[in-house]
Amino acid sequence: MEYDQHVHTYFSFDSQAQFEDYLNQTERPFITTEHLELSNPEDRASDDEPDQTAYTAKLQALKRRYPNRFLRGIECGYFAPRQADLQRYLQAQDFDLVLLSFHHDGQYDYQDPHFKTVDLKRHVQTYYDRMLAGLQSAPFGDVLAHFDYGLRILDVTPVQLEAWVKPQLQAILALVVKRGMAFEVNTKSMYQWGNAALYELVLPWYRQAGGELVTLGSDAHTADKFQTGFAEAKTLLRRSGFSQLALYQHHRPHLTAF
Ligand SMILES: [Zn+2]
Ligand SMILES: [Zn+2]
Repeated sequence: MEYDQHVHTYFSFDSQAQFEDYLNQTERPFITTEHLELSNPEDRASDDEPDQTAYTAKLQALKRRYPNRFLRGIECGYFAPRQADLQRYLQAQDFDLVLLSFHHDGQYDYQDPHFKTVDLKRHVQTYYDRMLAGLQSAPFGDVLAHFDYGLRILDVTPVQLEAWVKPQLQAILALVVKRGMAFEVNTKSMYQWGNAALYELVLPWYRQAGGELVTLGSDAHTADKFQTGFAEAKTLLRRSGFSQLALYQHHRPHLTAF
């Protein structure tokens, strides 16, 4: 009975999607993971914080009209200089699920064309050094979201990823395990950005590190992308030795067979 655990609505700076357009597709538990993105270069360096009072009011109204169980999620974009502010925001609410993402370096979002002009190998190494440092430092985050975000707009092959950053990635995955976090299988990365092979490379490393917790997320910003690619992703997960998905409530994973 899995459900999508990476979904955006108009509470995110980069989405206009309506809750109702998702809810008309499912009677399962429903969660959105809106962007908490401080000093966001994609939005003129502004602090993008979902209005939790308005969000609560919206969920209350939806509960009266839809049978779904409503859970509360957020996608926290890590940025080291703002760690204390991120922590304050996250502690002020009772979230079920906090995705931890690495979206920008303070100057550019990693999907900015700027990164097509830099040295590829160095960029990849820098991205994972920052991710490792962030995971070591951030006291929050239930799930490491789209580990490949910084590579989405670039063409990095599994051979290159392994040659350039296998030790960093293994350290990241070991830390995910040590922290009791889950690893997200992001179907937007896999099938919209063509990085399925990178997931297929890394998932066995995660298992070897003792990783058992995986989540499925479409990263939908429009309702037509809700739960897209889940059947294919589950096939890939089974091939990598996984048979359960982690579903989060009050930051705690509950395992469900798929
Ligand atoms: Zn993201
Ligand atoms: Zn997202």
